[in-house]
Amino acid sequence: MDREEMIERFAAFLRNYADDSGSEVYINKLKDLLTVIPKRSLTIDWTHLNSYDPELAEELLNNPEEAIAAAEDAIQIVLREPPIEKREEFKVHARFYNLPKTLLVKELGSEHINRFIQVEGIVTRVSEVKPFVQRAVFICKDCGNEMIRLQKPYENLIKPARCDACGSRNVDLDVEKSRFINFQSFRLQDRPESLKGGQMPRFVDAILLDDMVDSALPGDRVLISGILRVILEQKDKRPIFKKVLEVNHIEQLSKEIEELDISPEDEQKIRELARRKDVIETIVDSIAPAIWGMKDVKMGIALALFGGVQRLLPDGTKLRGESHVLLVGDPGVAKSQLLRYVANLAPRAIYTSGKSSSAAGLTAAAVRDELTGSWVLEAGVLVLADGGFAMIDEFDKMSDRDRSAIHEALEQQTISISKAGITATLNARTTVIAAANPKYGRFNRHKSLPEQLDLPPTLLSRFDLIFLLLDEPDEKLDSSIAEHILKVRRGEAEAVTPKIPYDLLKKYIAYARKNIHPVLSREAMEEIKRYYVRMRKGFRRSGEEEGVQPIPITARQLEALIRLSEAHARMRLSETVTREDARAAIRLVEDMIRKIAVDEEGTLDVSILEVGTSSRKINKIDRLVSIVKALEDEGEYGAPVDRILEEAAKQGINKAEARRLLEELSAQSRIYEPRAGFYRVLG
Ligand code: ADP
Ligand code: MG
Repeated sequence: MDREEMIERFAAFLRNYADDSGSEVYINKLKDLLTVIPKRSLTIDWTHLNSYDPELAEELLNNPEEAIAAAEDAIQIVLREPPIEKREEFKVHARFYNLPKTLLVKELGSEHINRFIQVEGIVTRVSEVKPFVQRAVFICKDCGNEMIRLQKPYENLIKPARCDACGSRNVDLDVEKSRFINFQSFRLQDRPESLKGGQMPRFVDAILLDDMVDSALPGDRVLISGILRVILEQKDKRPIFKKVLEVNHIEQLSKEIEELDISPEDEQKIRELARRKDVIETIVDSIAPAIWGMKDVKMGIALALFGGVQRLLPDGTKLRGESHVLLVGDPGVAKSQLLRYVANLAPRAIYTSGKSSSAAGLTAAAVRDELTGSWVLEAGVLVLADGGFAMIDEFDKMSDRDRSAIHEALEQQTISISKAGITATLNARTTVIAAANPKYGRFNRHKSLPEQLDLPPTLLSRFDLIFLLLDEPDEKLDSSIAEHILKVRRGEAEAVTPKIPYDLLKKYIAYARKNIHPVLSREAMEEIKRYYVRMRKGFRRSGEEEGVQPIPITARQLEALIRLSEAHARMRLSETVTREDARAAIRLVEDMIRKIAVDEEGTLDVSILEVGTSSRKINKIDRLVSIVKALEDEGEYGAPVDRILEEAAKQGINKAEARRLLEELSAQSRIYEPRAGFYRVLG
């Protein structure tokens, strides 16, 4: 088909294509382009073209560069004739979507080069927007001759070596006369869930031009149509070819976990399962059957998988529905194994380690692209798993940058980046199920949890449930675990087969998250309120009189209770949260508080989770600092240690403890030791 014929046939299509109700789809779209907010792109459904002129539709797939240019010429013709009759110059892009076949990034091959293709994937990094010289005008400095060179965004600058007229080499780009358009590149990668375990995701770099820039953010799931190009990339003189996708149209795909195909038969099975009296237990038992015991942990994980309901308040604030869960414990208690199993079960999940290899780590980063040298915004795991799950092992090994960004990610469910001219807020509505090991090898029961974890202490409060798993010899348990591990090793079916097949359970979870939005019943509200008030009241009697008071529970745990109760109802596919659901949630939260939010003297105190230090300790530290300050002038070099200990003892801090706290304080540089045996307060 030659160019003239293509233009004529596109023009005919645009003029005449009508939908079932007889309305002229593309004439109307063109009118809208001019009247409503002026836009520079006409989007054309490929299936429309195919039904009107299959030959032309085929030509577009095989010869896209010419065909798209012809379509754009045709648009100019149609714009100028009745019924539109636009006189002034108005450039409109032709953009095509809904192509007959969708490819994955890993399927892109040489047969697709220079073809019009449709690819699905996730955007992992996006560059800054830069000007690209589409029509370069070069000027000869000797004779003034002007030379026009049209440029391709995926190729190096084409520049005349000599002046066409006089042959001089003194040729320069005339910026004033050249035409620039916006240019942005991004990286498209296969969606994590489209990869089989352990496969490395493939990626392709893509180019957005003109009105298309800023239409994708890292973490977006998109369907793209475009032309696949190869460019030669010289590396150490060896010719390396690289694929680049020249984007023609980009469509945002939904991030909900709904694309799991749930057939009517599946739905029937799901509903049937939900009717079982023991559905909750059956689900919990189905999680990682190869791992013995850990019922509570599995229940906690199940609740995180189902999740609470996100609420939108009238003023626009969002209350998150995601419940994050943290497993901390001695080495060898199957934390990593459990996360791996759950990664297979959770719909749309990414399994990763805190010391993840990519530059963006868990959150996101602005990094320099090695190739172009420009800044790119790269999405980390929590952004890529937006709307799904991130199983993060070795959570305590995360990078410093992640440490500072992850608070926001877990609470507000966004990640903000502002660096090198790139500012963006990325969505990270991700449920985190994480595991961490103790800083000093094994856990010490007599020390508080935050002291033994290499994690920012306030981070703990972002987790609705924290499970502390200690590896303590216990004859009965040990023999059960041993027996179970042996059975698993021998491949005994009953030891490894989940009661609910993973396929079905995965669909069950996706189905529940999408369709069930439980609301708290009056009784459930009563139950939670009663528990909360009882906990808050209980401590007052036993609390200390002055200083910071220990708090056994805060509104944060209250919110956790609500989310967990909702998740429990969801597990039963129930639209109502009952008293029983609330009780199940209370039991887990209470357990957590009693295990890890207990201070040195056995008082419940969630300050340990909120700020990493118990109220009692905060008070003691404050007192000790005051003592040092008061005694500073007593000794030659500051407050003498024995006097500090003496005063501390009077105020109820025994010698051993006071010594320990002094050491901690000097480690934190709140006090210092100008000479052995003397302390001064810093600042
Ligand atoms: P962690 O990450 O907590 O250090 P791992 O997940 O690496 O521990 O587990 C160590 C090994 O011990 C794994 O092979 C795991 O299957 C086994 N194991 C530990 N506890 C159990 C258990 N309760 N049931 C089955 N296997 C277990
Ligand atoms: Mg481990």
